[in-house]
Amino acid sequence: MIKKNDVVTLSYTLKNSDGVELGKAGAEEPMNYLHGAGNIVPGLEEAIESMQVGDKKEVTIPPEKAYGELDPSLLLKVDRSNFPSDIDVQPDMQFSSEMGGKENVFTVESIEGDQVNVNGNHPLAGQTLHFNIEVLGIRSATAEELSHGHVHDGSHHH
Ligand code: ZN
Repeated sequence: MIKKNDVVTLSYTLKNSDGVELGKAGAEEPMNYLHGAGNIVPGLEEAIESMQVGDKKEVTIPPEKAYGELDPSLLLKVDRSNFPSDIDVQPDMQFSSEMGGKENVFTVESIEGDQVNVNGNHPLAGQTLHFNIEVLGIRSATAEELSHGHVHDGSHHH
């Protein structure tokens, strides 16, 4: 049974409320995360607690237990002249900017003449998430993983 400080291997499909697929990890390239360390959104972590290898579940997670509600104060209209002139500003382009003392990632949503509409919310803010998950493996975390607060597997060592 999955409990705090287990390393969990999962396959999942993530869709929004319109049924559009937002992400997935198949059994051939599953996701590993450290349970109880806030590596994944709180609603998913709650749903996975106590599951066992081979268990499957459909989970619906409201924004407040996923990436939060959309913050309208992060929807900004920026004049084109604020961007470097050698950059071709296009929708979906991302850039980071300091706001209130911390780096925040903004995504360009649309461009109207000289006005660039940007969104500093997480791309999934305000969205209800629909996960289809299957638990593929559970093991205890190593002392090093616990001290780092994340999983060390194949590609990730530091
Ligand atoms: Zn590490």
